[in-house]
Amino acid sequence: MKSNSFSERGIDRNWTLCRGCHNIVVVTDYCPRCHTRVDPRRPHSLQYAWALLLTAVIMIFPANFYPITQVTNQGVTGYDTIFSGIISLVESEMVGIAIIVFIASILVPVMKIVGLSIILLAVTLKLRLSRRWLMIFYHVIEFIGRWSMLDLFVIGIVASLINMGQLLDAKPAPAATFFAMVILFTQLAAKSIDTRLLWDLEYHDEQ
Ligand SMILES: [Zn+2]
Repeated sequence: MKSNSFSERGIDRNWTLCRGCHNIVVVTDYCPRCHTRVDPRRPHSLQYAWALLLTAVIMIFPANFYPITQVTNQGVTGYDTIFSGIISLVESEMVGIAIIVFIASILVPVMKIVGLSIILLAVTLKLRLSRRWLMIFYHVIEFIGRWSMLDLFVIGIVASLINMGQLLDAKPAPAATFFAMVILFTQLAAKSIDTRLLWDLEYHDEQ
Protein backbone atom coordinates (compact mmCIF):
# COMPACT_ATOMS: atom_id res chain seq x y z
CA MET A 1 0.00 0.00 0.00
CA LYS A 2 1.38 3.38 -0.97
CA SER A 3 1.20 5.46 2.19
CA ASN A 4 0.75 9.14 1.39
CA SER A 5 2.21 12.18 -0.31
CA PHE A 6 5.55 11.53 1.39
CA SER A 7 8.15 9.80 -0.69
CA GLU A 8 9.73 6.69 0.80
CA ARG A 9 13.17 8.05 -0.04
CA GLY A 10 15.29 9.68 2.63
CA ILE A 11 16.67 12.10 0.02
CA ASP A 12 13.23 13.79 -0.19
CA ARG A 13 13.20 14.35 3.56
CA ASN A 14 16.83 15.57 3.56
CA TRP A 15 17.95 12.43 5.35
CA THR A 16 21.30 10.97 4.45
CA LEU A 17 23.00 7.84 5.69
CA CYS A 18 26.60 8.25 6.86
CA ARG A 19 28.72 5.57 5.21
CA GLY A 20 31.25 5.74 8.03
CA CYS A 21 29.07 4.99 11.07
CA HIS A 22 25.56 4.41 9.56
CA ASN A 23 24.25 7.45 11.38
CA ILE A 24 21.24 9.10 9.76
CA VAL A 25 22.02 12.78 9.37
CA VAL A 26 20.00 15.73 8.14
CA VAL A 27 21.40 17.99 5.39
CA THR A 28 25.04 18.40 6.18
CA ASP A 29 28.39 17.88 4.51
CA TYR A 30 30.10 15.98 7.31
CA CYS A 31 28.69 13.46 9.77
CA PRO A 32 28.48 15.07 13.22
CA ARG A 33 29.36 11.75 14.85
CA CYS A 34 32.35 10.46 12.87
CA HIS A 35 33.15 13.41 10.54
CA THR A 36 32.96 11.29 7.39
CA ARG A 37 31.81 13.22 4.33
CA VAL A 38 28.15 12.40 3.65
CA ASP A 39 26.57 12.31 0.20
CA PRO A 40 22.93 11.56 -0.60
CA ARG A 41 24.17 9.09 -3.24
CA ARG A 42 27.63 7.57 -3.45
CA PRO A 43 29.59 9.88 -5.80
CA HIS A 44 30.44 8.46 -9.26
CA SER A 45 28.93 5.09 -8.32
CA LEU A 46 27.83 4.40 -11.90
CA GLN A 47 31.13 5.41 -13.48
CA TYR A 48 33.08 3.14 -11.13
CA ALA A 49 30.69 0.26 -11.70
CA TRP A 50 30.82 0.61 -15.51
CA ALA A 51 34.63 0.86 -15.52
CA LEU A 52 35.02 -2.21 -13.30
CA LEU A 53 32.47 -4.17 -15.31
CA LEU A 54 34.16 -3.31 -18.64
CA THR A 55 37.49 -4.44 -17.17
CA ALA A 56 35.90 -7.76 -16.24
CA VAL A 57 34.47 -8.10 -19.77
CA ILE A 58 37.93 -7.52 -21.28
CA MET A 59 39.54 -10.01 -18.87
CA ILE A 60 37.03 -12.75 -19.65
CA PHE A 61 38.52 -13.17 -23.17
CA PRO A 62 42.09 -14.07 -22.15
CA ALA A 63 40.60 -16.09 -19.27
CA ASN A 64 38.90 -18.33 -21.83
CA PHE A 65 41.37 -18.29 -24.71
CA TYR A 66 44.64 -18.74 -22.84
CA PRO A 67 45.41 -22.09 -21.22
CA ILE A 68 44.31 -22.27 -17.60
CA THR A 69 46.32 -25.36 -16.65
CA GLN A 70 49.78 -26.55 -17.65
CA VAL A 71 50.41 -30.24 -17.18
CA THR A 72 53.82 -31.80 -17.68
CA ASN A 73 53.47 -35.51 -18.09
CA GLN A 74 56.58 -37.62 -18.66
CA GLY A 75 58.42 -34.68 -20.13
CA VAL A 76 55.57 -33.66 -22.42
CA THR A 77 53.87 -30.37 -21.53
CA GLY A 78 50.18 -30.04 -22.34
CA TYR A 79 47.96 -26.98 -21.95
CA ASP A 80 44.24 -26.83 -21.33
CA THR A 81 41.87 -23.91 -21.68
CA ILE A 82 38.69 -23.88 -19.57
CA PHE A 83 36.76 -25.19 -22.56
CA SER A 84 39.21 -27.94 -23.58
CA GLY A 85 39.37 -28.94 -19.91
CA ILE A 86 35.60 -29.45 -19.91
CA ILE A 87 35.83 -31.48 -23.14
CA SER A 88 38.58 -33.66 -21.61
CA LEU A 89 36.38 -34.27 -18.58
CA VAL A 90 33.46 -35.35 -20.75
CA GLU A 91 35.77 -37.63 -22.76
CA SER A 92 37.06 -39.12 -19.50
CA GLU A 93 33.43 -39.85 -18.58
CA MET A 94 33.43 -37.38 -15.71
CA VAL A 95 30.30 -35.61 -16.93
CA GLY A 96 29.21 -34.54 -13.43
CA ILE A 97 32.45 -32.68 -12.77
CA ALA A 98 32.35 -31.28 -16.32
CA ILE A 99 28.93 -29.77 -15.56
CA ILE A 100 30.17 -28.24 -12.28
CA VAL A 101 33.20 -26.72 -14.04
CA PHE A 102 30.97 -25.40 -16.84
CA ILE A 103 28.58 -23.78 -14.34
CA ALA A 104 31.33 -22.38 -12.09
CA SER A 105 33.74 -21.23 -14.79
CA ILE A 106 31.62 -20.21 -17.77
CA LEU A 107 27.93 -19.89 -16.87
CA VAL A 108 28.28 -18.00 -13.55
CA PRO A 109 30.81 -15.37 -14.70
CA VAL A 110 28.85 -14.73 -17.92
CA MET A 111 25.55 -14.51 -16.00
CA LYS A 112 27.11 -12.08 -13.53
CA ILE A 113 28.38 -9.84 -16.32
CA VAL A 114 25.06 -9.92 -18.19
CA GLY A 115 23.10 -9.30 -14.97
CA LEU A 116 25.26 -6.37 -13.90
CA SER A 117 25.03 -4.90 -17.42
CA ILE A 118 21.21 -5.02 -17.26
CA ILE A 119 21.17 -3.27 -13.86
CA LEU A 120 23.68 -0.63 -14.97
CA LEU A 121 21.83 -0.06 -18.25
CA ALA A 122 18.53 0.27 -16.37
CA VAL A 123 20.01 2.95 -14.08
CA THR A 124 22.03 4.74 -16.77
CA LEU A 125 19.23 4.88 -19.33
CA LYS A 126 16.52 5.19 -16.63
CA LEU A 127 14.66 2.24 -18.12
CA ARG A 128 11.15 1.59 -16.88
CA LEU A 129 11.80 -1.74 -15.20
CA SER A 130 10.28 -2.85 -11.92
CA ARG A 131 12.43 -1.66 -9.01
CA ARG A 132 11.39 -4.72 -7.04
CA TRP A 133 12.62 -7.12 -9.71
CA LEU A 134 15.85 -5.21 -10.20
CA MET A 135 16.55 -5.44 -6.46
CA ILE A 136 15.83 -9.20 -6.43
CA PHE A 137 18.08 -9.49 -9.47
CA TYR A 138 20.84 -7.56 -7.70
CA HIS A 139 20.64 -9.78 -4.61
CA VAL A 140 20.87 -12.91 -6.79
CA ILE A 141 24.02 -11.55 -8.45
CA GLU A 142 25.50 -10.68 -5.07
CA PHE A 143 24.65 -14.14 -3.76
CA ILE A 144 26.29 -15.84 -6.75
CA GLY A 145 29.36 -13.70 -6.15
CA ARG A 146 29.93 -15.29 -2.74
CA TRP A 147 30.55 -18.59 -4.46
CA SER A 148 32.99 -17.22 -7.00
CA MET A 149 36.02 -18.51 -5.15
CA LEU A 150 34.73 -21.97 -6.04
CA ASP A 151 35.65 -21.50 -9.70
CA LEU A 152 39.42 -21.48 -9.26
CA PHE A 153 39.19 -24.14 -6.59
CA VAL A 154 37.29 -26.45 -8.96
CA ILE A 155 39.79 -25.82 -11.75
CA GLY A 156 42.64 -26.72 -9.40
CA ILE A 157 40.99 -30.02 -8.49
CA VAL A 158 40.10 -30.78 -12.08
CA ALA A 159 43.66 -30.24 -13.26
CA SER A 160 44.84 -32.98 -10.96
CA LEU A 161 41.84 -35.27 -11.58
CA ILE A 162 42.28 -35.40 -15.35
CA ASN A 163 45.83 -36.57 -15.08
CA MET A 164 45.47 -38.66 -11.99
CA GLY A 165 47.74 -41.67 -11.87
CA GLN A 166 50.33 -40.52 -14.36
CA LEU A 167 50.61 -36.94 -13.22
CA LEU A 168 54.07 -35.47 -12.93
CA ASP A 169 53.47 -31.78 -12.65
CA ALA A 170 50.37 -29.59 -12.93
CA LYS A 171 50.26 -25.88 -12.40
CA PRO A 172 48.02 -22.93 -13.24
CA ALA A 173 48.73 -21.26 -16.61
CA PRO A 174 48.24 -17.53 -17.52
CA ALA A 175 44.45 -17.72 -17.85
CA ALA A 176 44.13 -18.50 -14.13
CA THR A 177 45.30 -14.96 -13.33
CA PHE A 178 42.83 -13.44 -15.81
CA PHE A 179 40.12 -15.66 -14.40
CA ALA A 180 40.78 -14.40 -10.88
CA MET A 181 40.64 -10.84 -12.29
CA VAL A 182 37.19 -11.50 -13.81
CA ILE A 183 35.93 -12.67 -10.41
CA LEU A 184 37.54 -9.72 -8.62
CA PHE A 185 36.31 -7.03 -11.02
CA THR A 186 32.71 -8.32 -11.28
CA GLN A 187 32.60 -8.42 -7.49
CA LEU A 188 33.97 -4.89 -7.18
CA ALA A 189 31.51 -3.69 -9.83
CA ALA A 190 28.57 -5.18 -7.90
CA LYS A 191 29.84 -3.58 -4.69
CA SER A 192 30.27 -0.15 -6.23
CA ILE A 193 26.67 0.13 -7.44
CA ASP A 194 24.79 2.39 -5.06
CA THR A 195 21.54 0.38 -4.84
CA ARG A 196 19.66 3.55 -3.90
CA LEU A 197 19.99 4.48 -7.58
CA LEU A 198 17.48 1.68 -8.19
CA TRP A 199 15.07 3.30 -5.74
CA ASP A 200 15.42 6.56 -7.63
CA LEU A 201 14.42 4.67 -10.75
CA GLU A 202 10.92 3.87 -9.53
CA TYR A 203 10.69 7.44 -8.34
CA HIS A 204 11.20 8.48 -11.97
CA ASP A 205 8.52 5.97 -13.00
CA GLU A 206 5.97 7.49 -10.69
CA GLN A 207 6.34 10.99 -12.03
ZN1 LIG B 1 29.22 9.02 10.67
